[in-house]
Amino acid sequence: MKLVEHFERGLDAPVCLTWELTYACNLECAHCLSSSGRRDPRELTTEQCEAVIDELQAMQVFYVNIGGGEPTVRPDFWHLVEYAVAHDVGVKFSTNGVRLTPDRARWLAGTDYVDVQISLDGATPEVNDRVRGEGSYAMAIQALENLAAGFRCQDQRRLHPRKCRPARRPQGARRPLRRHPATDQATPERAWR
Ligand code: SF4
Repeated sequence: MKLVEHFERGLDAPVCLTWELTYACNLECAHCLSSSGRRDPRELTTEQCEAVIDELQAMQVFYVNIGGGEPTVRPDFWHLVEYAVAHDVGVKFSTNGVRLTPDRARWLAGTDYVDVQISLDGATPEVNDRVRGEGSYAMAIQALENLAAGFRCQDQRRLHPRKCRPARRPQGARRPLRRHPATDQATPERAWR
């Protein structure tokens, strides 16, 4: 079915859901709306999160907007992102950058259906760190630089596919999808090795 025909009938599920995956956080920002920092003992397990994603896939929800807390401090966070993408559910997530390593940044740059937001509260360390805590500006900037390098690497791959090897596929990650069932949008095949 063409995309235009699909939308003529309307949607029977939300386009996007917001999901506060954890209340745990490595920072203590002055303005935190989630009173974050401590993990809720009732937090969903990995299996329960996967079941939620399965349900979102069955409903054909386009994507989830994941926040917290700081979602990346969950040990299973990257697994859940990979699980969602592999099950037709796109992911946007907000992070203070604490787990955005160069390897992860390269992986994100080569992954479809994932958007990243890095949180800052000022254009200088003096302003930002008064709100978000000592060292939080440098941490966020490092994460942004890692992402920029990851995307540069992706561009190099497109321009010089023989010279630039792709980021290694993390263990357990599935091959990214090529077509979203709801939008029917084709995406380029990724040559993971
Ligand atoms: S990084 Fe986000 S979740 Fe953590 S304390 Fe700051 S505002 Fe709250």
